[in-house]
Amino acid sequence: MDFPQINGNKLLKKSLSDVMENNRMPHAVVINGGTPEQRDALVNRISMWAVCSAKDKPCGVCKNCVNAQNRAHSDIYYAQGSGKTGIYNKDEITKIINDTSIKPNEANRKVYVLSECDGKLPVISQNVFLKTLEEPPQDVLFLITCEDSMNLLETIRSRCSVFTLENSSRPDEETLELAKEIAVGIVSLSEMSLLKATYKLNDRQRFLETLDLVALLLRDGLAVYCGGKAETDEHVAQTLCKKLTKAHYIKLIDITKDAKVKINQNVGLRLVGTWLCAEYRRTLWQR
Ligand SMILES: [Zn+2]
Repeated sequence: MDFPQINGNKLLKKSLSDVMENNRMPHAVVINGGTPEQRDALVNRISMWAVCSAKDKPCGVCKNCVNAQNRAHSDIYYAQGSGKTGIYNKDEITKIINDTSIKPNEANRKVYVLSECDGKLPVISQNVFLKTLEEPPQDVLFLITCEDSMNLLETIRSRCSVFTLENSSRPDEETLELAKEIAVGIVSLSEMSLLKATYKLNDRQRFLETLDLVALLLRDGLAVYCGGKAETDEHVAQTLCKKLTKAHYIKLIDITKDAKVKINQNVGLRLVGTWLCAEYRRTLWQR
C-alpha cells in the first residue's frame, strides 16, 4: 500500500498497511509526530480506506474515495472547533458521540476526525470522550491527530492505537539512498541508472529533499577533491572524484539548484527529472 506525501517511515507504513489489508483497523487511532501535512495526508489515506467501496481499499476512484479525498464525504465528519483557537469543546464532543449512534449514509463506516488536538482538546472534552472510546459503537472510526500524543490524557492514549511519524530533522534513509543513486548515476558509464533514479521522484516534497541531499553529496565531492573530508558519504565522494573536476562540481551544484527553482515554479516533476538527467550528463562531457 502506498502513502503519498509520506517519505521514509518504513515501520509505520508497514504496520498501517498490515492493519488496512487485514481489515483490522482499531476503532480509535491517534496519529502523532511528523509534520501537520504528513498527519493530514495519513488521515486522508485512512479515511479513504474506511469508506471505500472497492475490494482493494482505498481504490482512489470510487465515489466514496473521491469524496473522501475532497473532504466532502457525508460519513466523514471533521470536528470544527470553536472560538479563535478552534477548541473542541464539550458540546461538540457530545454532538459527535450522539451522532455515532446514527447509521452511515453511503459508506459502511463513519469517520470522525479531530485534528491537531494539542491544546485544543480540553480535559473536560477528553473526559466526555472517554466512555465512547471504552465502548465504541460499531462501524465507527475516530482519527485524532496531534503533534505529540503525550499532550493527551493517558486514559485517552491507552484506549487508542497510537501511530507515530518520524520527526526527521536529519534526512530519512530512503531519501538519502535515492540521492546517492542519483549522484553516482551522474558519473556512471550508462545513463540508465540516473534515469531510473530520477524516475522515482514522483512527489514534489520528496524531489526537493532529494535535490538538497544531492547538492550536499556534490559539495562533499568537491571538498574531497580539494583535499578535505566528506561529511555525508565518503564512498560517494570518492566515486565522484574519479570523474569530476572542480568546474564540473560547480556546474552540477548549479544545475541542482536550478531544478529546485523549476519545481517551486510548478514545472511538472517528470519534465524536471528529464531535464535534470540531460543537464547532469551534458556537464559530464564538458571539459
Ligand atoms: Zn474506493
